[in-house]
Amino acid sequence: MGTTGMNRRTFLAAASSAALLAACGKQARAEPPKPMAVIPGIAMDQPAPEAAQPHSAPPAPTPTPVRPAASYERTLLAGTPWATAVSIRDSGTAGPAVLVLGGVHGNEPGGWMAAEEVANWAPRTGSLIVVPRANRLATHSFVRTFDDIGDLNRLYPGDAASSFAMERMAAEITALANEFECALALDMHESWAFYVDAPGTGTAALGQTITTGVGPLAPAFGPSIAEALNGSLPEHDRFVVRDGTSFRRPDTTGGTTARGRSSLSLGGHVAGLTPVLVEMGQQNQDVDRRMALHLMVARQALGMLGVL
Ligand SMILES: [Zn+2]
Repeated sequence: MGTTGMNRRTFLAAASSAALLAACGKQARAEPPKPMAVIPGIAMDQPAPEAAQPHSAPPAPTPTPVRPAASYERTLLAGTPWATAVSIRDSGTAGPAVLVLGGVHGNEPGGWMAAEEVANWAPRTGSLIVVPRANRLATHSFVRTFDDIGDLNRLYPGDAASSFAMERMAAEITALANEFECALALDMHESWAFYVDAPGTGTAALGQTITTGVGPLAPAFGPSIAEALNGSLPEHDRFVVRDGTSFRRPDTTGGTTARGRSSLSLGGHVAGLTPVLVEMGQQNQDVDRRMALHLMVARQALGMLGVL
């Protein structure tokens, strides 16, 4: 990863210092620290004494237990015609869990071919959970989806009792992300035209975009991926960063659900999760290259989180 502009350490350092500033409500100090007078008995590196804890201090959070190293499969919508495999790899080392989705739309093969490859990757830390062909029957028929099962990317957080199979699938995917406390959901799609050629014209022209939804890693995560990769791509093929946090529509409770009901809304249903939706352009870009670009994005995203 010698060519990447932002590695895990710099990303996490930037994220944690931003979080620290937000938590403390303090401005960053502009001038360099002044040398301290040496006080006998106090080491120079020692942090300032902590303020007394208020009596109502909340208890420390229980650390998430580390899952033992394992590699196994599960099935979503088991026993139905729409059953599809989930590949789960637990590293055995503490770290974030990442959910990767492919084949949400069956006529976007670069995404599901890449997801099938990612399912074979071994995480260094945390867990890697991959659903390579979320709408498996649609991938076999090479269609976006079927009218009678619904469009998975319009049905989150799902409903286990729905008459639409993909709404039940959305419920199982949301439950999976909650069970593993996933920090990132990477959803691999394809569009027809490149966004840069027809910006703002709709879902048929979202090619080469990376969109970050609501979540703790927003808004910086998608831009960090693009920044790391774009230098190695021809100008026309570079990723355009889109903000998926500012599209809201009313939900049934009178509040708002981020980004409607696409996977970009998952951050509203899974605590601690940030969704990232990646679209490759199919126009004049063959499927092997689309797959390779999806793999570049996935490798960069997982590397920034320390999972690879
Ligand atoms: Zn799609």
